Amino acid sequence: MNNSTAIIGGGAAGLMALSILGHEAFVLEHRNECGRKLLISGGGRCNFTTSDNIETLITRYYDKKNFASPALYGFPPEKIRSYFASLGVNSIREESGKIFPASGKAIDIVNALQKNEGKIFYGERIRGIRKEDGLFVIDTDKKQHRAKYLIIATGGITFPETGSDGSLNSLITSLGHTIVSQRGVLTEIMCHSLPLFKAEGVSLNMSLKKGKIRMSGEAVITKRGISGPLAENFSHYLEMEDEVSLAFLSLRRESFSLFSQKALLKNALPLPERLTEAVIPSLAGKRIAELSNADKDTVIKALAENRTEVRLNERRAMCTRGGVDTAEIDRKSMESKIVENLYFAGEVIDVDGECGGYNITWAFSSAAMAAGSIRKKNNLMLS
Ligand SMILES: Cc1cc2nc3c(=O)[nH]c(=O)nc-3n(C[C@H](O)[C@H](O)[C@H](O)COP(=O)(O)OP(=O)(O)OC[C@H]3O[C@@H](n4cnc5c(N)ncnc54)[C@H](O)[C@@H]3O)c2cc1C
Repeated sequence: MNNSTAIIGGGAAGLMALSILGHEAFVLEHRNECGRKLLISGGGRCNFTTSDNIETLITRYYDKKNFASPALYGFPPEKIRSYFASLGVNSIREESGKIFPASGKAIDIVNALQKNEGKIFYGERIRGIRKEDGLFVIDTDKKQHRAKYLIIATGGITFPETGSDGSLNSLITSLGHTIVSQRGVLTEIMCHSLPLFKAEGVSLNMSLKKGKIRMSGEAVITKRGISGPLAENFSHYLEMEDEVSLAFLSLRRESFSLFSQKALLKNALPLPERLTEAVIPSLAGKRIAELSNADKDTVIKALAENRTEVRLNERRAMCTRGGVDTAEIDRKSMESKIVENLYFAGEVIDVDGECGGYNITWAFSSAAMAAGSIRKKNNLMLS
């Protein structure tokens, strides 16, 4: 009896599923190597999970907390760390709470996941997927593969040179699934109408607001706009050409009487001088005593509610928002609600997390859930 599992995609999720299922599974990867995105993750060090406790962890997945939580509870960060320790990869926790392999090398994670007996077929371009007599029949340009179970783990659409290019989307749709519109997130926010480039390199704590959504945190000013954790995490909420309000500092008219009246505005404010020059160029060089009430109101508004049209830097997006509709997947098994024995794992699903190891954590946890569910089904059939 063919009880094997075909896994399409040899990235974080696909390799984790292979590692758990071992000889019961095989991977079909269209590139000539696996785990390319893992290798570039975390600047080549692979921030593969977090030290968050489970309650905090769940809050990192925006509006998909509910869908993601059974998988995250089933294979939480401490289990991910001990799984890798059992494969010989020890990990370290950084002050930020991010977890990396102790060696500082992403390749250790990729190699560890390929230590088992599962087979990997490289350079396999998938041409068709259909079900025949209870088996999945997968036609590639090299051969035909048959398997009882199928896990689709083809990732998102960002950094397509790593292989995650959305090329399986049309076949996923032909199986009856919906792909929620995909776009790159966890990226720089570009604000061309507010020339911040003079403050390039400045890091600060600030806030971003779009409608009722407000987020505060650490940001870095870039040539084109804002980067760093705040911008990356906020990019989840943004569409191209959205209007966003940037807040650097909250002041009131009375605040100006607390400053030395002889001081220049750019030196008086508790902000980096270059930032004040970039945000309020016409007033930054004026003395506090010279500011009219109208000037003070301009300063207050520019620093607390600076509205600007933004675009996302798609080329640098580290994650994809959108993907297979979560309404069509059973959150307690990762099995499709449409096609029996079809499973999804990782970024191909419409779940994205904040930056800080949350996306690889999701890839591992959802893959562990899919693999575990397949194991359970097989054992039930055999008993
Ligand atoms: C620069 C960068 C840095 C990042 N750093 C971090 C980090 O430090 N921590 C973190 O948590 N997340 C990080 N991420 C995000 C993280 O890497 C991904 O969320 C994670 O790799 C997703 O895993 P996955 O298995 O779902 O997809 P992927 O790892 O993208 O793997 C998908 C696999 O499927 C294959 N594939 C695609 N289409 C087909 C097809 N049609 N047929 C066959 N195979 C196919 C691809 O070639 C690839 O091997 C980073 C991303 C980038 C781009």
